[in-house]
Amino acid sequence: MSNPLRITIWHEYRHEKSNPEVGKLYPQGIHAVIRDGLIERLGASVEVKLAALDDADQGLSDDVLNNTDVLLWWGHKAHDEVADEAVERVQRRVLEGMGLIVLHSGHYSKIFKRLMGTGCGLRWREAGETERLWVVNPGHPIADGLGDSFELEHTEMYGELFDIPAPDELVFISWFAGGEVFRSGCCWTRGKGRVFYFRPGHETYPIYYDPNVRRVIANAVQWAAIKSSSPYSMVSPKIDPPQ
Ligand code: ZN
Repeated sequence: MSNPLRITIWHEYRHEKSNPEVGKLYPQGIHAVIRDGLIERLGASVEVKLAALDDADQGLSDDVLNNTDVLLWWGHKAHDEVADEAVERVQRRVLEGMGLIVLHSGHYSKIFKRLMGTGCGLRWREAGETERLWVVNPGHPIADGLGDSFELEHTEMYGELFDIPAPDELVFISWFAGGEVFRSGCCWTRGKGRVFYFRPGHETYPIYYDPNVRRVIANAVQWAAIKSSSPYSMVSPKIDPPQ
């Protein structure tokens, strides 16, 4: 049996402590519920650790990152508190081949903007409206086991234009009851690393308890963990002239 995938779920972990509504929904934090979902679906094939902004080295030490195959990222109100050095470390590990899954409001995190190179803005509205996620790439491993679409009854709306570079692969497009659409499941490669952005996950709704959302995140972890033993270096190797 192969070694379990080493997953780290990084969370700023602030809303739960300051907003009783969120604390009630996620008493141990959003990251703990995402972990439960991964273990429910993937069992012993994953080893899941939690990391938070208030941990030593902001939860993003070399030791943590060097022992992570796939990093999940949830942040919202504390993006600016993440140290630039920590962002550098995460970026380097992605280029070396660590998978990165950026969730919901992580679209505005320093690491996502760094890896995308664009503004990453979007339209938004908090009205608890219905979202339908359409699968637009049914052969993609991240869509495995889903139907044509699935619905989340109450969500925060994110709408186009989503200021990202064109995804290498698009897996989901969301439709909202208010009329907007959004590219809600997007894949890129950066260096050797696979990056997936997944939209749902507003902290005041029970999104991470939803079975379809859990399936997508579990599929995404497996997709992002693909390993390659070919070398990768951020600097260009010098080649000696022919003799
Ligand atoms: Zn939100």
